[in-house]
Amino acid sequence: MKNKIWLSSPHMGGTEQNYVKEAFDTNWIAPLGPNVTIFEEMLKLELKDETREIACLSSGTAAIHLSLILADVGMGDEVLCQSFTFSASANPIVYQGATPLFIDSEKQTWNMCPIHLEKAIKDRILKGVKPKAIIVVHLYGMPAKIDEIAFIAKKYNITLIEDAAEALGSKLNAQKCGTFGDFGILSFNGNKIITTSGGGALVCKNKEIKEKAIFLSTQARDNAPHYQHSNIGYNYRMSNVLAGIGRGQMEVLEERVNQRRANQTFYKNLFKEYIDVKVFEEPSSNFFSNYWLTTILLPTYKDRERLRLFLENENIESRPLWKPMHLQPVFKNYPYYGDAIAESLFERGLCLPSGSNLTDDDKNRIKKAISHFLNSI
Ligand SMILES: *Cc1c(COP(=O)(O)O)cnc(C)c1O
Repeated sequence: MKNKIWLSSPHMGGTEQNYVKEAFDTNWIAPLGPNVTIFEEMLKLELKDETREIACLSSGTAAIHLSLILADVGMGDEVLCQSFTFSASANPIVYQGATPLFIDSEKQTWNMCPIHLEKAIKDRILKGVKPKAIIVVHLYGMPAKIDEIAFIAKKYNITLIEDAAEALGSKLNAQKCGTFGDFGILSFNGNKIITTSGGGALVCKNKEIKEKAIFLSTQARDNAPHYQHSNIGYNYRMSNVLAGIGRGQMEVLEERVNQRRANQTFYKNLFKEYIDVKVFEEPSSNFFSNYWLTTILLPTYKDRERLRLFLENENIESRPLWKPMHLQPVFKNYPYYGDAIAESLFERGLCLPSGSNLTDDDKNRIKKAISHFLNSI
C-alpha cells in the first residue's frame, strides 16, 4: 500500500525543538514564561495592529469561551453564530447557558450572510431580546464579508467575535483576519496552518482586556498572599513548552501560507478543463485567503461521494465540508435563519489534501488519481 496522503498534517520548521529545549534548560515548564511572551509578541507583529494585544491560551475553543465571558454572555442570552463551521465555534455558547441562533452562509465567501444576520437581529428584537454577540468565522481561511458584518454589529451595538482559527495570515483589504472584531480567535491545533500541537489565542482590543483574559485563564486569583477568589476562574493559559513550538512555527508562517496557496493553484490547474468542478477561490482581489484547505464543489452529492471513496481507495484523504450546525443532532432544536446555502455546500463539497508539506510525489499521485477519476465520469 502506498503511503497515506493526509488532508493537513503538522509541518515543523526546524527550530521548534531549540525553544522547547530552552524551556527545559531554564525549567520554565509552566503556563507562563519567556516563550509565551515572545510567541504573543510575534503574533502581534503578524497581525499588524499596534493596539491589539494577544493572550495565548490552551486552545481556540478556550479563546471563544473567554470571549463570550468577557462579552458578558450568560444564562438565557442569545448569540448569533455562523452555521457553516466546526462545532467548536458554537459549543462555548452552550457552556455559558446561552442560546445559539444559527445563520446561513452567502455564496461568495461561504461565510456568514450579512442579509440573514440582519434579518435575524430584527426578528429577535421584535421578539423582545437583542442578541448579545455575533460569532463570524473565516472558514477554510477565506475572509468573511467582515466589513458588512462589523457595520451591522456596530449599528445594533452587538459584540463581534471573529473566529479566525483557520485564517491566520488571511486578510481583507490588507487588514489581517482576527483584527476586525471586538475579539479575535486563533487556533494552533495539530491540523491548522501552524501548530503548537494544541493551543490557541485570544486577540484583544487593548491591554486592559488582555489582562482580564489572562486573569480568568489562570484561575482568577485575587491579589492576596493566600489563594483568594472573587470570580470563577479557568485553567486556560498556554504552556511555555508549547509556546516554544509556536515561536519556531512563526518563523515559517509566511512560507506556510505560500505553500498552501500554491496547493490551491495546483488544484485550479488540475480541474481547469472540468467546468463542472469548481475550485473555491477568492471572490475578488480584496480578499487574500491563506487557503488553509483547498475545497471543491461537485455537481451532486453522488459525485462528491464517488470522488471521496475513489481517493480513499488510493490512500488519499479527503473530507466533506463542515456539516452545518443547524443540521447537527446536538443543535437541531435551536433557531436557524437562512436558506439552504450551507446545506448545499455540505452536500456537494470536498476538502482535498492541502498540507504545506505535500511533496511533488504526493501531488503527482493526487493528479493521477483525480485525472483518472474525471476521465471515468
Ligand atoms: C479548530 C477550530 C476551532 C477550535 O480550535 P481548537 O484550538 O481546536 O480548540 C474553532 N473554530 C474553527 C472554525 C476551527 O477550525
